[in-house]
Amino acid sequence: MIVRAEAERLALKVPTEPYYAGRWGVTRGVGTFDVVDPVTERRLMTVQAAGPAEVDSAVSFARSALDDGAWGRMDGATRGRLLNRVADLLEERSEEFAALESLDVGKPGFEPRAIDLPQSVRTFRHFAGWADKLEGRSIPTSGYMGRPTVSYTVREPVGVVAAITPWNSPTMIAAWKIAPALAAGCAVILKPPEEAPLTSLLLASLIEEAGFPPGAFSVLPGRGSVTGQLLIDHPGVDKISFTGSPETGYKVAVAAAKGFRRITLELGGKSPQIVFADADLDAAADGVAVGIFANQGEVCAAGSRILVARAFYDEVVERLVTRARGVKVGDPFDEGTTMGALINARQLERVSRYIEAGVAGGARCVVGGGRPGRPGYFVEPTLFADATNSMTIAREEIFGPVGTIIPFDSEEEAVAIANDCDYALSATLWTSDVGRAHRVSRGVKAGAVAVNGWSPLDPSLPWGGFKLSGQGRELGWAGIEANTEEKTVTIVL
Ligand code: NAD
Repeated sequence: MIVRAEAERLALKVPTEPYYAGRWGVTRGVGTFDVVDPVTERRLMTVQAAGPAEVDSAVSFARSALDDGAWGRMDGATRGRLLNRVADLLEERSEEFAALESLDVGKPGFEPRAIDLPQSVRTFRHFAGWADKLEGRSIPTSGYMGRPTVSYTVREPVGVVAAITPWNSPTMIAAWKIAPALAAGCAVILKPPEEAPLTSLLLASLIEEAGFPPGAFSVLPGRGSVTGQLLIDHPGVDKISFTGSPETGYKVAVAAAKGFRRITLELGGKSPQIVFADADLDAAADGVAVGIFANQGEVCAAGSRILVARAFYDEVVERLVTRARGVKVGDPFDEGTTMGALINARQLERVSRYIEAGVAGGARCVVGGGRPGRPGYFVEPTLFADATNSMTIAREEIFGPVGTIIPFDSEEEAVAIANDCDYALSATLWTSDVGRAHRVSRGVKAGAVAVNGWSPLDPSLPWGGFKLSGQGRELGWAGIEANTEEKTVTIVL
């Protein structure tokens, strides 16, 4: 396992410039920005931000790579080989990536080692497999003016894809966007999060090493309001794949509306975890605690609304309090740490404000609510009981380790509370009744429902939500559809 001092040394070797047009550097740039370690509050690195000149050059180079370059001419099997090469390189260096992700994001070491990196490797392998299987369909028709026809479809790459990612799981979410787009033959321009760009910049160097032709992939670090906005406004971008807040998602949708360019929006969530009276309460308490405390609660699918059958309410609250007390908050590189620091001072302030709102709104804080007495952007795992679904802490996305526990009296009421929400990303059910599992899965409005487990991730499974949670799906076949146009060809015989 890589220790903190070694991770800090590795961070110094990560590229700190944009990569586009097949080279690293800037022509003009728009200055630099600092990346801060959320645990020590010290500067980790300073990165060159891409500006108008770099965005313009990246987009036009990507377009030429598609229209006149080696990338546009490359067959699917070769694209698949290159994607498998990225997977191999990422796997070989996954300890290094995991350590850098912990350093940059503040998440405990075991999480990127057990989740983010294996998931990212599997995502590249999954889409490597799709690259030479993008088949069309042969469709019978009733003919044309009395003459027979042959009609078929082909799948073509959407074109230049801008991929914009958030800071909570930068490697994995970048893999979710890059791998399907490259498998489909698109040219990808990644704008990583300014708060945590380390692993995205390193991933770009691996993609270069894997042998992708210039223009197939670029990375443009910079602030969202500058570099990100320039990229989404650029008319040469054919599709924007965005993960982040609904507020920025709205800006993406407005920018994409000019020219009716395609979008995939993966926005936030306020996901219910429903514990029915027939559940295995121990397993449910373990799963619910992971669902709200993993990655410090900075997860789009965080199960922040915990709905519990009234008959077992007190018992479940007690078990969850015990689980929360068992969480070890500390330096991600310390042995035994199970929760790290929030990403930055702004996020700490946001989460603290919601904790105050919980108390002011009349919910009972049964555990946590404070900050450990140490530097860094830490907050205690926090649970509110005796809450209602109309309270601010039950309605707004907190994006921190704060759960709101709400009682219900019947299955119908549980579904009604779950659906009384502006978001619809995911839901978790805990029950031993198979009929109820299917009934409630159908009844709950969410892009994904998990029964007796929290949010299982797999590159084969479509992922995404609706309402304020976004639009479109990533991963699996949905990831290929999202990055291709289906063309119909008809030959009159
Ligand atoms: P954010 O919207 O502030 O930033 C996300 C990305 O967008 C960053 O790269 C940022 O630089 C960029 N950006 C910001 N303003 C931009 C603009 N005007 N034009 C173009 N790009 C711009 O979100 P965040 O604070 O980084 O992430 C937290 C949010 O993301 C939460 O709401 C969370 O739920 C959501 N999220 C969703 C998922 C999902 O899969 N649904 C996954 C992770 C995070």
